[in-house]
Amino acid sequence: MPELPEVEVVRRGLATHVEGRTIDAVELRGHRVARRHVAGPDDLAGRLAGRRVAAVRRRGKYLWWDLEDDLGLLLHLGMSGQLLVEAHGAPDEKHLHARFRFADAGPELRFVDQRTFGGLALGDLDAAGVPVAIAHIAPDPLEPAFDRDAVVRRARASASGIKRVLLNQSVVSGIGNIYADEALWRAGVHGDRPASALTRPRVAAVLDHAADVMREALGQGGTSFDALYVNVNGASGYFDRSLAAYGQAGRPCRRCGTPIRREQFMNRSSYSCPRCQPRPRLRASAGPRA
Ligand SMILES: [Zn+2]
Repeated sequence: MPELPEVEVVRRGLATHVEGRTIDAVELRGHRVARRHVAGPDDLAGRLAGRRVAAVRRRGKYLWWDLEDDLGLLLHLGMSGQLLVEAHGAPDEKHLHARFRFADAGPELRFVDQRTFGGLALGDLDAAGVPVAIAHIAPDPLEPAFDRDAVVRRARASASGIKRVLLNQSVVSGIGNIYADEALWRAGVHGDRPASALTRPRVAAVLDHAADVMREALGQGGTSFDALYVNVNGASGYFDRSLAAYGQAGRPCRRCGTPIRREQFMNRSSYSCPRCQPRPRLRASAGPRA
């Protein structure tokens, strides 16, 4: 699953290729790619033709084109979606679902998805320029709209474990399992610690670490564990070599040498250092908490 840095890499690549260009025609193959567009693929293609891509934007892991007139095209990459810039006449990919041709007759853009979990959806933008469909998603730590103090307040109002709060897209978006584990390792906080029991500076530090680690990943082209996922130019990320906690079970902690542990977390895994990130002790006696 792509995380925020990978999606930002895609956004930057896309911005280079499509910003300022006018869509000439869109070819949609099958209904799945437009399944989130209720009026169907023909309607979607018809409404996109002639529109100018004013900007390519992102919030968390969501990517959209600002098509002016408060209209946006959301691009869901799903687990395996790829956006490829191709010359006209290049052989079609086996799992080609959408082809954008532009009025300038330059390279076309193709949406290829082996598992068809991704797709396109056209919809209104709200007053902040965010698609109404994702208006419930909170700003991510790399956005100008991100209000760290407000997020710290919201987080500390929750008795949930800090990791759960970090993954709650209505509090802060774009922090997935990998970056949550990295941020918590850097901050020396176990993910099960109730957010309400952490000090304000501690929560702020966790958020700052999350932003830092995502910025570092961005500098390296993103993280990717899925061979099917590549960025807009076809290059995979390689940040995984820099991870200190995530996926490092059994390897020595870079800070203290204690082997990194893996624990069950929801239906996934959490990685942490048993020594730098002690498990909360009073959980059982604290009673049930929402
Ligand atoms: Zn350690």
